[in-house]
Amino acid sequence: MAEYDYDLFVIGAGSGGVRASRVAAAHGAKVAIAEEYRVGGTCVIRGCVPKKLLVYGAHFAEDLKDARRFGWNVPDCGFDWAVLRDNVLAEVDRLNKAYISTLDSHGVEIIHERATVSGPNEITLASGRTISAGKILIATGAHPAVPHCPGSEHGITSNEVFHLESLPRRVLIAGAGYIANEFAGIFNEFGSKVTLINRTDVILRGYDEQIRDRLLQISMTKGIDFRFHAEFKGIEKQPDGSLKVSTTNHEDLEVDCVLFATGRVPNTGDLGLAEAGVELDAKGAVVVGADNKSSVDTIYAVGDVTNRVQLTPVAIREGQAFADSVFGGKPTTVDYDCIPSAVFSHPPIAGVGLTESQAKQKYGSVRVYTSDFRAMKNVLANRNERALYKMVCTPDTGKVLGLHMIGPDAPEILQAAAVAVKAGLTKADFDQTVALHPSMAEELVLMK
Ligand code: NDP
Repeated sequence: MAEYDYDLFVIGAGSGGVRASRVAAAHGAKVAIAEEYRVGGTCVIRGCVPKKLLVYGAHFAEDLKDARRFGWNVPDCGFDWAVLRDNVLAEVDRLNKAYISTLDSHGVEIIHERATVSGPNEITLASGRTISAGKILIATGAHPAVPHCPGSEHGITSNEVFHLESLPRRVLIAGAGYIANEFAGIFNEFGSKVTLINRTDVILRGYDEQIRDRLLQISMTKGIDFRFHAEFKGIEKQPDGSLKVSTTNHEDLEVDCVLFATGRVPNTGDLGLAEAGVELDAKGAVVVGADNKSSVDTIYAVGDVTNRVQLTPVAIREGQAFADSVFGGKPTTVDYDCIPSAVFSHPPIAGVGLTESQAKQKYGSVRVYTSDFRAMKNVLANRNERALYKMVCTPDTGKVLGLHMIGPDAPEILQAAAVAVKAGLTKADFDQTVALHPSMAEELVLMK
């Protein structure tokens, strides 16, 4: 008789949990996965995927306007939020089913219940049933943080934004990170009046300063209002349903929707981890080593719940590395160096490696090359919106330390260029490559 009910019990069927379960099962392990909400996790159900579809939907606002300069007779077009919302949610349903069928086809048992840890090898389900497992993987992700202020219950988060009954006429977005800037662009293109407030005057901390400044300038030109050094004092619901928002340092504002985008908190509350001896950090994240193992030998964690790098592809790699190491006899660790990332704002930002200021701190002096240009399409469209590409290199060998971009399709272009940065290529290597003309990407090999 087997010692445990399962070799592996995974809690949380998001990007990291699903990858770990199906790879462990493929290595021959007997695996179960518990999910209290929907299989797919934040990225598929209420994050990257539906967000990107909204970004595509929003971009039509500019494309339809620009089309006239390219000879198209475009009648005045209206936008129907309900059509886009329902189509996006239908696509989410399709992906949810695809994820379930992947788990099924790998023989992973899905348990649609909340599970908590009740010992180093024991899980208790919401129904009261206990299960034993040789290894437990925590892949419960994170949830949106909501600042404490009177009336905060009137606001929504990225969990609810995809289900809005109607498009808000006036929306206030709190925070100035990924989600705030992405949804500021989305709502603004759909025609909502957008105000973004932040507690400091820094947007997208961690991205290159010049690139962030360019986004701020373009966003303001597009009509997005920014209010900095603003902290919530309170949100009051008015008799007509609108929300009166009071913040420090600014006048009160009346809006129809408040969206909190102020970071995400690891989902470890009431999971029984501390009681089982698992060390959590000050933010509640599971503390793990490079092998994804927690302070308890049989309990591992991957993805946002560890608060290392909150990005889907990283969670997937961590899940894969865990399964290969523990069940595949192939010890693997994730390389966190040079992870490319993007903000799907309007226009988008993408970056890999060190920013100019990070590189200066590390290397003392650096050489910086830039290309500040107006995309050909924007020129004909009379769209006065400039792209900026920036390459940060060592002063002596010219090794590329970082590459940062804002402009149309920047994430698509950067993914390919990130291979060269990861491979340790130099500015001279870029310059030796003949430009592909006419393209925006050719600026990568023409930087001065
Ligand atoms: P971010 O960490 O990107 O930004 C959080 C913002 O909220 C910052 O401007 C921060 O200000 C502010 N903030 C933090 N705490 C408070 C507080 N208590 N009160 C007021 N303001 C506060 O978080 P997001 O919520 O936008 O996204 C969460 C994570 O999800 C991201 O870090 C990213 O890893 C991931 N994500 C990735 C995307 C992508 O890859 N395109 C898209 C969406 C999310 P300050 O800078 O001063 O700290």
